[in-house]
Amino acid sequence: MKNAYLKRVYDKVRDRDPNETEFLQAVKEVLESIEPAVERNPDFEKNGIIERLVEPERVISFRVAWVDDRGKVQVNRGYRVQFNSAIGPYKGGLRLHPSVNLSVIKFLGFEQCFKNSLTGLPIGGGKGGSDFDPKGKSDAEVMRFCQSFMTELSRHIGQFTDVPAGDIGVGAREIGYMYGQYKRLRNEFTGVLTGKGIPYGGSLARTEATGYGLLYFVNEMVQARGESMVGKTVVISGSGNVALYAAEKAYALGAKPVTLSDSNGYIYDPAGINLDIAKDIKEVRRARISEYTKEVPGSEYHEGRGVWSVKCDIALPCATQNELNEEDAQTLINNGCKYVGEGANMPSTPEAVELFKANKVYFAPGKAANAGGVATSALEMSQNSMRLSWTFEEVDEKLHQIMKNIFKNATDAAKEYGDPENLVLGANIAGMLKVAEAMTAQGIAY
Ligand code: NDP
Repeated sequence: MKNAYLKRVYDKVRDRDPNETEFLQAVKEVLESIEPAVERNPDFEKNGIIERLVEPERVISFRVAWVDDRGKVQVNRGYRVQFNSAIGPYKGGLRLHPSVNLSVIKFLGFEQCFKNSLTGLPIGGGKGGSDFDPKGKSDAEVMRFCQSFMTELSRHIGQFTDVPAGDIGVGAREIGYMYGQYKRLRNEFTGVLTGKGIPYGGSLARTEATGYGLLYFVNEMVQARGESMVGKTVVISGSGNVALYAAEKAYALGAKPVTLSDSNGYIYDPAGINLDIAKDIKEVRRARISEYTKEVPGSEYHEGRGVWSVKCDIALPCATQNELNEEDAQTLINNGCKYVGEGANMPSTPEAVELFKANKVYFAPGKAANAGGVATSALEMSQNSMRLSWTFEEVDEKLHQIMKNIFKNATDAAKEYGDPENLVLGANIAGMLKVAEAMTAQGIAY
């Protein structure tokens, strides 16, 4: 980072919260890539734009006490970080995973501001969650946790204020329990959460949106290089919501997904993943992905995190942050991988991203490539406000167009700064400029 203003801002963030490693990583990546745009806009410093962008508008941390099946009281910590509301109500998911802490939620909330801006829809940035681990808990325990979590969260959210959604560990079941509790407390039926079930205000195609959107985006990259998705081998990590629907759309575009993973290991199926079986294992039985090999002859299960050693044309990290490091990137490059699209948020380490860039691997950062999820959440908000439901095809078509626009806007910004395939630069600058303009227009309260 050469720009003195940006360096001062970053040093202050680091000195203030030296232990927030994920948040510092995300801030550094964004500030480094927006450098040329900040050089062109001296007013940013006068208006304190970057200082304001890196400081959340509000951080809420709260106790979540709940009763387990043995009658014992358990206590977790809940968070909601309301990062930036310059362009719309705070919007971003809730993550339930033992690794959740303030640094993780702040990094996700920070990234969300730019991602939401890129969608072209009126949504600000936020994120929340808890260190509660839904794995191994009964339905009744998950319900009691979600109700207790929402009892506090409901004071801080609202359809015009902050509209949370799902993320790791939060799918239709958890959203249902949380929505029910919000409604009980407020006695109102409003679209305060997205990712709701279809019978009570959810949007068709929301479940599929992040994975489908990722593939729409990658398809744009492949076409921009004059190639086609047909016949390409795709390696996917994760086996959750994003991974499963990324695999589904990869098939629809003529490519072949050959892996899925979870935190214990990965499966490799040279014939192409059988999605009916994978979905049944993960969505219905909530079992481990290793079960797959018991049902599909010719497939393999490997313990550990070696999914990136599988040869492919396209790699799609769809599990969690920092899951793809420098060594993994080198292995992918050695095996001839030409495209990387981030389904997860910040899954590639900064060193891995540098290697991709140096080796002309076309790289799509999560804030652009996985924005289809939040975009479709915003479409769910629109449908709730209008008291209407669009068909699957209508929502999917809108999603497709949004992903094309994000690719175009990020590419145009990257071109303007002389580096056409640098989508990190393009996405960060395009996302940031709109938020900065809105913040400037809205002034400062003295
Ligand atoms: P799910 O909970 O549905 O699935 C998460 C998957 O990632 C599981 O296979 C899980 O394995 C694996 N995983 C989670 N944590 C770890 C870890 N620490 N190490 C290794 N594997 C891990 O989550 P989603 O599919 O919804 O989310 C995946 C990623 O996509 C996240 O980064 C999320 O922020 C991002 N994202 C999600 C959106 C959405 O609409 N859902 C929108 C945009 C981004 P295991 O079961 O073993 O934990």
